[in-house]
Amino acid sequence: MDCTIQNIKCEICGRVFHKVCHAEPFDKVCDSGECFHKKFWLEIIKEKDEHVIINGICYYLDRTHPMSDSPFRGYGGREFKIKLHTGEIIVTNNLWHNGEVPKEFRDRLPNNAEFIK
Ligand SMILES: [Zn+2]
Repeated sequence: MDCTIQNIKCEICGRVFHKVCHAEPFDKVCDSGECFHKKFWLEIIKEKDEHVIINGICYYLDRTHPMSDSPFRGYGGREFKIKLHTGEIIVTNNLWHNGEVPKEFRDRLPNNAEFIK
C-alpha cells in the first residue's frame, strides 16, 4: 500500500482531491458520499454475474462455491434457494445483502432471479 499524499481526480464527479493511503477499488473516488455510492453500484454492474437481483434488492453470492463452511457467512449461514431467470437453481448458505438497487441503476441491474422454496 502506498501511503504518500496524492492528488486524485474523482472518476465520478471530476473533482480533484487529496488522499493518503488509498485502497482499491475506491481509490479514484472522492469522499462525497454520493460518488462513493455511485462507484459501489458501478462496480456491481461490472461484476454483474456475481450478483443476483431479486425484487430490486441486490445480493452477492459465490457462484462457484454457493455452499460454504466458513464461519463468516452471509445471513449467518441461513440457506436460500434461488432460481435464476435462466432456469438455473442455486442453493446457498452464504448470501450477502448488497442493498436496494438505486433507481438510476435499475435498467442496468434488472431482476434476474427469485427466491423459491
Ligand atoms: Zn466525486
